[in-house]
Amino acid sequence: MAFSFEIDKTAEGGGRRGRLTLPHGVVETPVFMPVGTAASVKAVPQDVLEEIGAGGKGAQIILANTYHLYLRPGHELAGRMGGVHRFMSWERPMLTDSGGFQVFSLSGLRKVTPEGVEFRSHLDGSKHFFSPEHSMDVQIALGADIAMVFDECVEHPASYERTRESMGLTHAWARRSKDHFENHKERVPWFEALGGDTQRLFGIVQGGMYVDLRKESAERLVEMDLPGYAIGGLAVGEPREVTREMIARTLEFLPKDKPRYVMGVGYPDEIEEYAKMGVDMMDCVLPTRAGRHGLLFTSTGRLNIKKLEYAEDQRPIDAVCECMVCKRYTRAYLRHLYASGEPLAGTLNSVHNLHFYLATMERIRAELAGVSGKAVS
Ligand SMILES: [Zn+2]
Repeated sequence: MAFSFEIDKTAEGGGRRGRLTLPHGVVETPVFMPVGTAASVKAVPQDVLEEIGAGGKGAQIILANTYHLYLRPGHELAGRMGGVHRFMSWERPMLTDSGGFQVFSLSGLRKVTPEGVEFRSHLDGSKHFFSPEHSMDVQIALGADIAMVFDECVEHPASYERTRESMGLTHAWARRSKDHFENHKERVPWFEALGGDTQRLFGIVQGGMYVDLRKESAERLVEMDLPGYAIGGLAVGEPREVTREMIARTLEFLPKDKPRYVMGVGYPDEIEEYAKMGVDMMDCVLPTRAGRHGLLFTSTGRLNIKKLEYAEDQRPIDAVCECMVCKRYTRAYLRHLYASGEPLAGTLNSVHNLHFYLATMERIRAELAGVSGKAVS
């Protein structure tokens, strides 16, 4: 399938109802992407992922982490297995991050030079080096539909000078990422199987919490004429109003006809707010991570399943939820599973939370299209 991004309708607030066509399928936007860190959306099997969400449509696209897959099982092995799609038996679209954010999260274990980043594995302390070129080689071998340029993320808070310097490095690395990607993209494992189609490389806007730097970063990246743009370096501990302002101010400088992706957000009300501002793609570990910790998202707010008050509660998690968990199991049973440390607790809680996120996005897409959606399904 040829890459394309079409917008059917733009609402007054800026939210867009559209469609992103990728080598492995079509993604209705705005979209939420479940995170499959190590080629697995934690505790949720692929066939279940294909069925959750409103109407049983399943997750349209998932994200995998380059850093984790590089360390285990290794990008070369994944490439020999036909790429991550075939390796994990996921035929739908997929996106890999650049590894940058995760490497930069290893504070104390890394050293940054203009050439790249030296870091130590969180698994065994072994030494590794990531350059923009290496990140591209790894992502091409993994073979997600969308790859991301290698970027540097600054810590929060960071001074203006530090943020500006880091942003300069990010722009130089984006250029190197693009050059290397363009010269090697035909090595993607499914190049021939998909009729000579290739991955697409998205840029990442940085600039910390400084509006003028965000503007400059967006402008530098747009000059590179990439097929999509992410807003990175947010949700790193700043107040929510700041996240919102940075997104709003950055969107102004990104092309309206290309997909816009905010990385690593957020709570259900946040993804709703950002989608209605004109963000087309989002990803977050929250639905699965919170699920494993017993925190459930519902149409009436958050619910902590470990509480004693649910011990004999015969109701489903959410009376209006149509997920396979709410249709079958009671709060009492889910609380018991959690309290007993049963692995099924993590699976069922994650399935409900993912369904809630996907159903939320389905409702927002219907609203943006001008069709009144159900409150939550
Ligand atoms: Zn449910």
